[in-house]
Amino acid sequence: MDYREERLARNEVLFRNVNEQIEQAAMSQGTDEHVYEFFCECSNIDCSLRLPLTLGVYEEIRSDPRLFVVAPGHELPEIEVVIRRNTEYHVVRKQGEAAELVAARDPRS
Ligand SMILES: [Zn+2]
Repeated sequence: MDYREERLARNEVLFRNVNEQIEQAAMSQGTDEHVYEFFCECSNIDCSLRLPLTLGVYEEIRSDPRLFVVAPGHELPEIEVVIRRNTEYHVVRKQGEAAELVAARDPRS
């Protein structure tokens, strides 16, 4: 993996860590059906888009350490493939070395 790809993957890990904290706080109050504003987990460190997701959907994505949620169009084909598309968000799966990097940094592993 080249330096750029590693940096991009690290940025996504940062956003995931923030979302993990949002989810932890939300789970203490809400149910799976509650919608919360999660950060777009794309590789652009300046992105501040929020994505409305239910806790249930976010938890499903988080159950695989290689999956991230991004705004439509924020996927990066160099390091990930889109596995689910809808109008509000895309779910992407990291490929190759980027997948290993993000899995190793999963706060739940
Ligand atoms: Zn984004």
